[in-house]
Amino acid sequence: MHFTGRTWRPPYEAYSVIIQATSGCTYNKCSFCNLYKEECFRLSPIEEFEADLAEIQSYQPYARRVFWTGANPFALSYEQLKLRALLTREYLPKCQNIAMFASIRDIKTKEIWQLKKLRAMGINGLSIGVESGDDETLLLANKGYTANDIWQQCRKLDEADIEYYFVYMTGLAGKDSGTRNAQNSARLFSQLNPYFISVDSLTLFPNTALDEMAQQGTFIPATEKERIRELQTLIAHLNICTHLLANTVSNFAPVTAYLPYKRHKVIDELQNILDTVEEADMQKYRKNLKSLGY
Ligand code: SF4
Repeated sequence: MHFTGRTWRPPYEAYSVIIQATSGCTYNKCSFCNLYKEECFRLSPIEEFEADLAEIQSYQPYARRVFWTGANPFALSYEQLKLRALLTREYLPKCQNIAMFASIRDIKTKEIWQLKKLRAMGINGLSIGVESGDDETLLLANKGYTANDIWQQCRKLDEADIEYYFVYMTGLAGKDSGTRNAQNSARLFSQLNPYFISVDSLTLFPNTALDEMAQQGTFIPATEKERIRELQTLIAHLNICTHLLANTVSNFAPVTAYLPYKRHKVIDELQNILDTVEEADMQKYRKNLKSLGY
């Protein structure tokens, strides 16, 4: 198998077959992220991709779900995606879903008819690290798009029947802004249909713009308790049926819930953490986090 640079897949794709379609990130400018700072974006040559498919076929010929790695393989043109999707289906005819990371920018370049065709070829299950649905926070994170862009592009996915997942990041808005971030994000997400929302919590890593801003005092991080209250607000205001997965290592208190049915239960669980754990202990936990690894 060919893997170059950092290989990254979300925790919920742990049982998918992994193949590299691209490496690095086409954007590389989010203010909190240092994942691909040392790498250039690279499209895996088709010969390399095909050789990996042949290898997978030799040991998992009945693979049902394939995850294409890279920060955003969906940045590829319609024709390049089509070529690789058809090849994936040729080698793995039982494959039902070809999942990958995608950015809002990557959807913008596709017409609805193209999205529908890609869906028919098996592309389904886009992980979108929107991080927020609040314009001020999106600007601070330098995501390069607005809440309205998220709405417009995800409506296209809804129309094409492509399943997608959001990643939300607590703490990203900084001190005293988590409530606004959560309320505005919940309002936006409730107009869309994310199959689930995965929640991370901001950890400041070296070599990121946000870390530099924190050192200069122009970004004041939210306390750990504020982040938990932000998560409670997000849950309280989400008005759709969706799964919430706030159980990655960056969350001090891992919780999951099917919303809205478990809304009150999970808000109470989080309240119990707020009432029984000291802020200092929560901060100690964050300081010991070495990477975004799950
Ligand atoms: S968060 Fe995603 S889109 Fe932003 S720089 Fe990192 S890998 Fe690229």
